[in-house]
Amino acid sequence: MKYFTIAELCRSNTGEKLGIENVPNSFQKANMENLINHLLDPIRQMWGKPIIVNSGFRCIKLNKAVGGAKNSEHMSGCAADITTGNKADNKKLFDMIRNSSLEWRQLIDESGFSWIHISYNQSDNKKQVLHL
Ligand SMILES: [Zn+2]
Repeated sequence: MKYFTIAELCRSNTGEKLGIENVPNSFQKANMENLINHLLDPIRQMWGKPIIVNSGFRCIKLNKAVGGAKNSEHMSGCAADITTGNKADNKKLFDMIRNSSLEWRQLIDESGFSWIHISYNQSDNKKQVLHL
């Protein structure tokens, strides 16, 4: 882990506001480490500029509070929502990831590149690309 930390992936404005303790277990933590080592850090290295994690790990309670999908990969620590801070650069970042040799499970352009959802799952890195 070079650029991103487990703590950074657990931080949540909504969680803090609602007093939800967003603490991962060792399984979820291991998934986050894989996500960082196999995707987030290499992406940040390639991009060469800061990338912000809007949402990483979500406990069940937090996932409900933010209206996440029932089977959201955020709950297992396998997914992160990332942004450069603006849509134009998010599109460039998205294209850079899509054209890279990295392995991912899902790469999703959310709401016209408002943010990028990316997930890593060693057993199922099918490199799916979606626009939602
Ligand atoms: Zn997401």
